[in-house]
Formats: sequence, C-alpha cells, structure tokens
Amino acid sequence: MRIHAIQTGRVLVKQAQISGRGHGLWRQFQPVLSQQWAVWSPTFAWAIEHPEGVIVVDTGAAAHLKSLPRWHPYFQLAVRFDIEPEQEAGPQLKKLGIGPRDVRTVVLTHLHVDHDGGLAHFPHSRILADGGEIARTAGIKGALLGYLPKRWPQWFDPQPIAWQPAPYGPFARSALLTDAGDVIAIPTPGHTPKHLSIIVRDGDAQIVLAGDTSYLDSTMLAGTIDGISPDENVARRTLADIRALCAQRPTIYLPTHDPNSAERLRQRHTVFAALSPQMRNATTWPPSATIMAPVM
Ligand SMILES: [Zn+2]
Repeated sequence: MRIHAIQTGRVLVKQAQISGRGHGLWRQFQPVLSQQWAVWSPTFAWAIEHPEGVIVVDTGAAAHLKSLPRWHPYFQLAVRFDIEPEQEAGPQLKKLGIGPRDVRTVVLTHLHVDHDGGLAHFPHSRILADGGEIARTAGIKGALLGYLPKRWPQWFDPQPIAWQPAPYGPFARSALLTDAGDVIAIPTPGHTPKHLSIIVRDGDAQIVLAGDTSYLDSTMLAGTIDGISPDENVARRTLADIRALCAQRPTIYLPTHDPNSAERLRQRHTVFAALSPQMRNATTWPPSATIMAPVM
C-alpha cells in the first residue's frame, strides 16, 4: 500500500487559529481579530493506493478559493489561499498515473473549504463524510460557519459514514473503509463537532491522516487546541485520545496543514519518540500483535 501526499497549494492563517489563545468566544474570535499571521502552510490531500482501489482522503484546496465571499469576516480577515489550477488534487493525481476512474472512494475529514475544494475532480467516486458534518453545512448557519456548499459540484451527494460500535484504541466507534479492514475511519471531534480522521494500518504501524484534528503534531502532543473548535473539552479529549493511540503502536501522525507531514510520511517518522516517559511507561512497548486486534 502506498500513500501519496498531494500538496494542494498553501494557506495562510493567524497564529491564534493554529494554537488557540484564551477561552470561550474570545478564543474563537482571535483567528479573525488577531493581527499575527502564521507562516504559509501546506494543504495536503492524501491518496492511498490500495489493492481495492485508490482512496483519496480530503480533496484539498482549489484555485477558486483565491476569491472568497467578502461578506464573511473569516474569509475577509483570517485566511489567504495560494494555489493554481495545476496544483489541485486532480491534475496532481493524473501526473501520478491515477485517473478519476481509479479513485474508488473519497472520504472527507470535514467539509471546510480547503478539504472539499477539489471535489470536482472526483465525479466517479463514492464520497463519504460524517452525516452530522454534512448537515452542519446547510442554510445560513452553515454559511456563517464558513462552509461553501454552493461551490460543490452539482452531482455531489455524499454518503454518510456508517459508524459501528467497534472500538479502535480509545475511540468508541469506527468504520471500515476497505474489505481488508486496513483503512479505518475514527471520529475525532473538536475542530468541527463531527470531524473524522482516517487510519491506515500498515503492518505494526498505523498512519493517521488527521485532517484538522490539530494543525501540527506539536500542538497535538502539547494538548493545545486550535482557535476554531467550538467545544474546548471535546477538542482536548480528542487530542488526549490521539496521544493514547500513538502510545499503543508506532504511529505516523499527519495533519493536513503540518509543514512536516509529507516528510514524516516519507521517513515513516513515528510520534512515539516524542511522547512523555509517563505515557510510554503506561503501555507495552514494543507492541505485541495481540495488543489491539484490527477492528473487524
Ligand atoms: Zn478545517
């Protein structure tokens, strides 16, 4: 199984979006009100070359995001996109020899504009997202939350993920995306209430395609939530669950906007070394094959 990191341009947000500052509404307004921009960050989409067909995780940004609704304070004051059409997911996959009909499944971690921006390139795929996340995009409330469903292709009709009561590590529910059981969705609420992440099982290791669970591996390890998550406790709990997951087996943790995600994937750099000694001691290492059976 091979995973490709597809960088769909760059995005610029405020530092207070990456590392939330303060609490409550104050924290949630800082990405708009703060003047301190972070550095330009990548936006990754991922393509898993699986024997059952290619699975694309998030579709990345698209050139249409260079023009954003001017009435919305977030779009006007808090984010900039830098992407050309040839940097979109479709053209990049084509260069890798992966055409639209090769992509069996597209799964969206959430429906923010830099994750669903490239949907137009996948007209032949089964498209999966969390049902609650899809519902959240609707109406004026969806528009205020920064979703742009009007930019979706007309044919877009995502299938809600069928969550099963099958635990995966600390996560109570999961959903298998392959018959082989080696590509698994887990709920990682926080950044949005129904945000999800994708786990790719690869031998003893697991690769977490984390979406915006955190913007960086460092903020996940520090337990620092972002400036977007509506519920601090939910977001913090998910980061703790991810750390527990990382302690259970070698984990390559790949957030969408982490500048080091592609390199970590290439080097198969696991999080384990960065975990605190207490957390390491709390688990068996190296993991035996019986610690956590794959979810079936
Ligand atoms: Zn997002």
